[in-house]
Amino acid sequence: MRKEAEAVIIGGGVMGCSVLYHLARLGMRDVVLLEQDVLGSGSTGRSQAILRMHYSNPITASMAWESLKVFQDFEEEMGHPSGYVNTGYFVIVSPVDRGPMEENVAMQRSLGIETSVVSQEDLEELAPMLKADDAGGIAYEPQSGYADPYLVTTGYAQRAKDMGAQVYMRAAATEINVSGGRVRSVTTADGTTIDTPKVLIAAGPWSRQLLKKLDLDLPLETTRHQVVMVRRPEGLLPSHPTVGDIAQEFSFRPDSTDLTLIGIGEEAVDVEGYNQGVDPATVEEAITKLVNRMPAMAEGYFRGGWSGLFTTTPDWHPIMDRVGTIDGLYCAVGFSGHGFKLSPMIGLCMAELIAKGEATTFDITPFRMSRFQEGDLLSSRYRYNVLA
Ligand SMILES: Cc1cc2nc3c(=O)[nH]c(=O)nc-3n(C[C@H](O)[C@H](O)[C@H](O)COP(=O)(O)OP(=O)(O)OC[C@H]3O[C@@H](n4cnc5c(N)ncnc54)[C@H](O)[C@@H]3O)c2cc1C
Repeated sequence: MRKEAEAVIIGGGVMGCSVLYHLARLGMRDVVLLEQDVLGSGSTGRSQAILRMHYSNPITASMAWESLKVFQDFEEEMGHPSGYVNTGYFVIVSPVDRGPMEENVAMQRSLGIETSVVSQEDLEELAPMLKADDAGGIAYEPQSGYADPYLVTTGYAQRAKDMGAQVYMRAAATEINVSGGRVRSVTTADGTTIDTPKVLIAAGPWSRQLLKKLDLDLPLETTRHQVVMVRRPEGLLPSHPTVGDIAQEFSFRPDSTDLTLIGIGEEAVDVEGYNQGVDPATVEEAITKLVNRMPAMAEGYFRGGWSGLFTTTPDWHPIMDRVGTIDGLYCAVGFSGHGFKLSPMIGLCMAELIAKGEATTFDITPFRMSRFQEGDLLSSRYRYNVLA
């Protein structure tokens, strides 16, 4: 293992790997990424990986839109596929959320994002398998869909390695060594010390415990989200669009075989020892909601599932910042249930901050660490957090 690096990234999820790649692109190639397990083994590998632009804030909507273009052209830039599948995406809201949905769509359109409010008749034409007669409003994004989180994460890591970066797996960072108010080195589980002036914490659900060792207590919680798989009835439903169902507070998308993946639930749990499977009562709730939206799924059948962790902040938006009290320390944490779709722009902005001292592609000050003390939180037009 290297004993020196221009920077060390802790965490080989989609965020750490995206930052690693973008640092290499910006000319910082002597960078080490440490992953305690294997790449994508945290929240990333459990993600539904839905790509959509429907947000309540211009910054996240624009980041998602620019990121979508990266997922679409990933193979050209990276030499590896992203697994992007264009399914189209519907947002379905109850009557009380009609106004907020229209405001979001107007905001998105003002940014050049391809989306519109559609009618029941449009829905019937675009996606006859969906039923939304209870809905107060429906929005549609024709270019949205999903990608493959494993392919994207390893694609970023591989390109970064091609440019000189080092990736170590089964290599947990145990200490970030600080003296004189600045980062000096990182120690790993096998006792290696890597001297470095810059460290990025991108350790997903484990970030809080790493930060605590430095007496930094960020408002990060871990929230269990369940993914339920249902096999579609043969012949009846070859595929369907992706749906963010705010009215029923769940989401679903097809995969490339005959499965539909349902995302549901928000339960505060500890990072260690949480139930990584699905709960029978939640399976029943998920399938009931799915059948409400897609009646043909009454003939589908349950094929298992898993749970993963969202790392949430009080406003369900990330913290992307330098740590003011420790020179050379940065964090990209708290991406909750919507980080994957933003990961190309997050990687780029964090790399700009680390390599050049400032993020220039987007102004990331809305994601600053101090916003919680300042009471300047980002807000959502909906109560359903996952669609912040
Ligand atoms: C069930 C589920 C569904 C989701 N669905 C979507 C979706 O549809 N669309 C979307 O955009 N987002 C979705 N998300 C959110 C998205 O997946 C996450 O925001 C994103 O993957 C977070 O990436 P990360 O790199 O920050 O964290 P992680 O993927 O958790 O990566 C952190 C890595 O750090 C490593 N690590 C931790 N501590 C150490 C240490 N001390 N030393 C070395 N390595 C360490 C871990 O092993 C891990 O691999 C979903 C998340 C879940 C859980």
